[in-house]
Amino acid sequence: MTKPLIGITTFNGKNDYGRMVSAVQHTYVQAVTLGGGIPILIPAILPADDLNELYSQLAGVLFSGGGDISIKYFQGEDHPKIADVDDFRDVTELTLLKQSVEDGKPFLAICRGVQVMNVALGGTLYTHIPDQVNGALHHDQDEFTTIAHPVNIDETSRMAEIFGETLLHVNSLHHQGLKDVASDLKVVGHAPDGVIEAVELPGHPYGIGVQWHPEWLTNQPVMLRLFKSFVDASKK
Ligand code: MN
Repeated sequence: MTKPLIGITTFNGKNDYGRMVSAVQHTYVQAVTLGGGIPILIPAILPADDLNELYSQLAGVLFSGGGDISIKYFQGEDHPKIADVDDFRDVTELTLLKQSVEDGKPFLAICRGVQVMNVALGGTLYTHIPDQVNGALHHDQDEFTTIAHPVNIDETSRMAEIFGETLLHVNSLHHQGLKDVASDLKVVGHAPDGVIEAVELPGHPYGIGVQWHPEWLTNQPVMLRLFKSFVDASKK
């Protein structure tokens, strides 16, 4: 069977010459490749019609990590630590997420991605965990490859089936997190301090979101299974 085309959402950044680029870290591209898919980058600058046409040719969508979502989409509490808000990216990803839910198109949402998933479906976010969650662990670490905290996965979840394990050891590079969870989503993983780390969309062929960065942990077989299961679901 041919490999499925997996769209990866991108950020709008600048190169060393100060010129605008559509970009994504290589680890996402590599993780999709390791999972057996062909990565296609989705620019966050497309006119709506073109975005829709690109989307229609994708077998699955990976929502990548990045800056914070504008508080206007969830009536969030403003905070001085909110950073890297990009309205083009917000609109692009909120549109793609809603469309993927509606069409039953497989998607995997990572870090900012799981926040997009929640906001697109009507949920809200903590806009700075250290100031808004009592007793929170240090979730905003600097190193992608450092294990920061465990995550307990609900043993009756789809995700437990995918991972084949219910105790994970993950990295943590987020200062925001899910607050009020969209009613269609099921919370299936928490950090020891109660911060939500994993959600899934029951009834959808493959709608999975994680707050950590599995694309940096593919040396763990359990994390690689996530990408393989996503690509496999996208073949159907
Ligand atoms: Mn965390």
